[in-house]
Amino acid sequence: MSKEPRDDSVGALAADLAAHLEHLERFGGVRYLDAPAPRSGGGSGANPRSSPGATAPGSERAFTSAGRPQEQLAAGAVAAAPGGSRQQTADPASWTPAQKLIHLQQRVIGACRRCPLCETRRNIVFGEGSARARIMIVGEAPGAEEDNTGRPFVGAAGQRLNSWIEAVGLERRGVFIANVLKCRPPNNRDPFGPEVMACSKFLRAQIRAVRPALLVALGRFAASALLGRPVRMNQAMGRLHSYRDPRDTGERPVCVLYHPAYVLRQDRGPDTGEIGKPENEKVIEELRRAVAEVFGANGPA
Ligand code: SF4
Repeated sequence: MSKEPRDDSVGALAADLAAHLEHLERFGGVRYLDAPAPRSGGGSGANPRSSPGATAPGSERAFTSAGRPQEQLAAGAVAAAPGGSRQQTADPASWTPAQKLIHLQQRVIGACRRCPLCETRRNIVFGEGSARARIMIVGEAPGAEEDNTGRPFVGAAGQRLNSWIEAVGLERRGVFIANVLKCRPPNNRDPFGPEVMACSKFLRAQIRAVRPALLVALGRFAASALLGRPVRMNQAMGRLHSYRDPRDTGERPVCVLYHPAYVLRQDRGPDTGEIGKPENEKVIEELRRAVAEVFGANGPA
């Protein structure tokens, strides 16, 4: 999904809500309930407490909400688990990034029904990639193909994102890819504030688990949600910003890029019909500069 260009109202609302939620969390004024048991016939999503395919944190398999193996996350999880341990350590503070992600996916999000998007989704799109990724890429919300497959950034926009990753010398399996919202808004409409408020805490938990050295925000909505303020793309691109989480230490640099779906639309502009218009080149240049600035000439090892 891509939302440029559009007015700032949604981004501003997302930012306001994110800041409000952060404030509430910081001062202990809000508690979230576990997801209630899914109703029959409602939006799909694996119930970790009942699905025969669900596995305990620390196991070698992770599942999408549809109960299918999610190979990339599974691969990252296995790589991240010392010795491939199958045992769940009692103290969450000692969990590996993979264990934290699997716990978040299966035990916290589960068959989430915390906002109305659960009624229309086909799959919860948790995200995928290396649990120890040095770079986390954040989009807005799943689109139709993502909703169908349970995977983030598949289809044309995903192919374009892959081309950017490869253009700067990285591999998709080496990064972690997630969205602000884990469920598709109907007809790819803009997310509503309460949906952002309900779901953005999962993204923050993913960031705390993976602890990436660089966050990449795709599009204005993701940038606004990460930075906690309205973002104008033409002002945000060209420099690094900071992501802060009161439940985590330090700050994380944020690189803001156009959403790949937006760039695809620019490619197909009626004026020339050319492929590879300046927006695409600008994105690659921005990403390459951010990677060099954060990791140096050798890139993320
Ligand atoms: S969008 Fe997020 S909060 Fe809403 S139902 Fe899906 S996972 Fe839960």
